[in-house]
Amino acid sequence: MTALVGCTALVLAVTGTAPAQAAHRAATERQVLPAGDGWAAYGAGTTGGAAADRAHVYTVTTWEQFKAALADDGGAPRIIRVKGVIDADGPGCDTFAAPGYDFGAYLAKYAPENWGRTTTLDGEPDDSPEGLRRASAAGQDAYIKADVPADTTIVGVGRNAGFNGASLQIKGVDNVIVRNLRFESPLDCFPQWDPTDTADGNWNSEYDSAVIYGSTHVWMDHNTFTDGDHPDSTLPHYFGRIYEQHDGELDVVKGADYVTASWNVFEDHDKTILVGNSDSAATAAVDRGHLKVTFHHNLFRNLVERAPRVRFGQVDSYNNHFVAGDGYSYSYGIGMESQLVAEHNAFTLPDGVTAGPILKKWKDAPVTAADNYVNGRLTDLIAVHNAEVPGETLRSGAGWTPVLRTRVDPARAVPGLVGHRAGAGRIG
Ligand code: CA
Ligand code: CA
Repeated sequence: MTALVGCTALVLAVTGTAPAQAAHRAATERQVLPAGDGWAAYGAGTTGGAAADRAHVYTVTTWEQFKAALADDGGAPRIIRVKGVIDADGPGCDTFAAPGYDFGAYLAKYAPENWGRTTTLDGEPDDSPEGLRRASAAGQDAYIKADVPADTTIVGVGRNAGFNGASLQIKGVDNVIVRNLRFESPLDCFPQWDPTDTADGNWNSEYDSAVIYGSTHVWMDHNTFTDGDHPDSTLPHYFGRIYEQHDGELDVVKGADYVTASWNVFEDHDKTILVGNSDSAATAAVDRGHLKVTFHHNLFRNLVERAPRVRFGQVDSYNNHFVAGDGYSYSYGIGMESQLVAEHNAFTLPDGVTAGPILKKWKDAPVTAADNYVNGRLTDLIAVHNAEVPGETLRSGAGWTPVLRTRVDPARAVPGLVGHRAGAGRIG
């Protein structure tokens, strides 16, 4: 009885409210990452804004209010409650266009038959179509990106909260929690043509829904990331190439460390998650020994690739469900100096898709894969990959054993569990 009273008093002091069930469980906005729950639990763990005083609990319904809450009062822990779906993409692409920008002029000047395929547009002057595209892109960049400060919890209220077209920048900070939010991918209004990217050229775009850049202790939980109403199938083509307006759903880059992504839905997207974004020497110097990320109980549905693609990091991926759809390329990208552990996962592949491409070898790096089920059958992902993909032999044994796991479910129970509980709108 003494313990119960003590617990009640503590919760009351923290939340300032007294609903009956609050005696046993903090309100969603005050919850912290449980001890031992993935890499974000390492060291001091991840508490986000749970210690915020009442003056630093914000409820926002517009992008302007959200950005103001992020910018307010540097230093104090904060909780930002997001109510409803917030448009972060502004009144339209035209409003970001720099004076004189003309997409027709851009297409005319850089068409392969005029410009060729051997020179990038990077040296183009400011008054060129590419220069005006750059200026236009800078306007959109400033509008849709939102910098998240240290010691912050951002949480959706109820079952229908999120952002359309936002790009959360979790950059150079410690201790951030993001939960119960639906992120519809940003659309880059001004993709750049790169004539030298592949033999055919490519349209490249910016803006991940969230990027964890050089930050530590980040917990992404019960969110949904999706292209929503704007899948790649709806995008136009120019110069014979898709006018790609999406970048990643969640990228973890530039020496970021101690991240747990749990119970999220990542769906309807092409290049989904990067852990590490370059093999370059400069990047290696920053990333080596970092990029430790845990993915558990996530649903990866109808994605083309990168769930995730890993460089350098010790990534633990367990109890996830991968559901492949049209255009499936691969799930795990094995990149430079990565040490992926993939265990107790479930894969649902359609007719005609074999298990070999679940793993994709980009660089020679060791992998641990055990107790994974493909269409209900225990499958050795490395053996089947090595048998099916000639010339791409993967080595078994990542060289480390994850210990930061709170609960491991039988792989065959994962589709049901994740299907019922993952994603935004399931908590709070
Ligand atoms: Ca809009
Ligand atoms: Ca990116």
